[in-house]
Amino acid sequence: MATLQSKNPATGELLREIEMTSPDELPRIFTQAHAAQRAWGALRPRERAARLIRLRETIINRVDTIADLISQENGKPHFEAMANELLPSVDLITYFAKQGPLLLQDRRIPMSLLKHRTSSLNYWPLGVVAVISPWNYPFLLPFGEIAMALLAGNAVVFKPSEVTPLTGLKIQELADEAGLPPHLLQTVIGDGSLGAAMIHQKPNKIFFTGSVPTGKKIMSAAAEYLIPVTLELGGKDAMIVMPDADLDFASSAALWGGYSNSGQVCASVERILVHESVADLFTALLKEKLGQLRQGPSSLRNNDLGAIAFEKQKTVYERHLSAAREKGATFVAGGDFSPDRTFLKPTLVTGPGIESLDVYTEETFGPIIALTTFKSVHEAIEKTNHSRYGLLASIITRDLAQGDWIARQLEVGTVTINEVTYTAGLSETPWGGVKESGFGRKHSAEGLYEFVNVRHIHKPRFRFTVFKSLWWFPYTEYQYATFRKFFELYRVHWIDKLRALPLFLWNFVRFIKREKRI
Ligand code: NAD
Repeated sequence: MATLQSKNPATGELLREIEMTSPDELPRIFTQAHAAQRAWGALRPRERAARLIRLRETIINRVDTIADLISQENGKPHFEAMANELLPSVDLITYFAKQGPLLLQDRRIPMSLLKHRTSSLNYWPLGVVAVISPWNYPFLLPFGEIAMALLAGNAVVFKPSEVTPLTGLKIQELADEAGLPPHLLQTVIGDGSLGAAMIHQKPNKIFFTGSVPTGKKIMSAAAEYLIPVTLELGGKDAMIVMPDADLDFASSAALWGGYSNSGQVCASVERILVHESVADLFTALLKEKLGQLRQGPSSLRNNDLGAIAFEKQKTVYERHLSAAREKGATFVAGGDFSPDRTFLKPTLVTGPGIESLDVYTEETFGPIIALTTFKSVHEAIEKTNHSRYGLLASIITRDLAQGDWIARQLEVGTVTINEVTYTAGLSETPWGGVKESGFGRKHSAEGLYEFVNVRHIHKPRFRFTVFKSLWWFPYTEYQYATFRKFFELYRVHWIDKLRALPLFLWNFVRFIKREKRI
């Protein structure tokens, strides 16, 4: 039986050896999921929401032990596991348990012309959703997607990252304990090959969060069966520091935005664009604050930055940093690993040629920020948009009106003004990217609608308005003339409409009186 080892990245300690799910088991798992979904999907959204509220209770009862597990398996500080993973998860259930049933109610569409008929949108579950997740927020990310998918009436087959399988299994354990129906949520354990095999089970939707290369593979495999996908991919998020910014505030924002979770955040500040007039002072402040960050194992609960979660990610840091060194970039801070390679010192790198280097253009997904300068607002906008990614950007300024104007020029899914990173964890606002950062949204109404089909129901307004429509057979002379005159009624000027009206009515009356629809 193949197994997967979950290890503490700070100590290398083996936390548990876990049996992997064989791809041969997937057909049974998906069949069970479809059966569980039929009963669950038949419940009213309010009943499903009530069941999910129980899940919230099981989390609240175990906050400290779950945060311990996340921190051990992923390396992040205990505070971050608690405040940035579990609290937003609890908030998400609360928000969607209340708003979800309202958002899933039928929605009337006002008819502009055909007043004798009504249209409404009816939301119904997709079926079985495959949730495939990364390791950087091993609880928050899949949990939010699972909760929204379930609330919308779906069953979920969930594959956590092979780097954080224990946290994935914890979500399953909590769901079971909360009394969710058997097989409604099923967690499968394995690496990318198991994720790839899941697609061949033809889930009704794939909700993927992870890297751009994997996102492309998933989309191409899903295309074979025309499975809809939502892709939440990487970013190279820029922070623009305007010349009027409070530099103490701006440097603290950069510090948290760039180095929380050791920068292993899709929404991390990875690039700073600072106005040349304040660049030296800003850089000096950021350097000073970097020196105050405490890096160490999270078990001691006195750190700001923990161990790097994933061995393979360190090779990306090495590649980007050694290329920067070779090209003569300036290391304002950090740049080196601890002797045992467990930690990468928080790094700030800059220099004249920085913008052509991978450390500035490609996602590092670590405690590294590349800094450059700009002379004008237009240059800041152009540099921000000059990226294949488009997830988040932030602007630090005292001029909120100008900040708002800049925000509207940026090619990203989210812009935060005088804030960084954190809206990825908000339940009520949409999260997602443009360009190679992916497409589709999670959280908010937009995110919930990713988990439903939309059925348009079009019916007569009154019971007795059963007459044959004017555009049905036979096509006749007066019918043609009436419809031809319709175009005139769409003209801009009232005078043109009025001029056309008598002839329109003349034809229309003849059409109605003389010609019977067959
Ligand atoms: P990854 O793409 O390597 O893996 C993500 C998941 O996909 C894992 O569970 C993995 O086992 C699975 N997988 C790998 N190959 C697969 C395949 N061929 N078919 C199906 N599944 C497959 O990403 P990662 O290293 O775990 O995560 C880091 C990336 O995730 C970064 O690029 C980061 O920016 C991105 N991310 C994005 C968001 C967002 O909301 N946009 C949030 C968090 C992380």
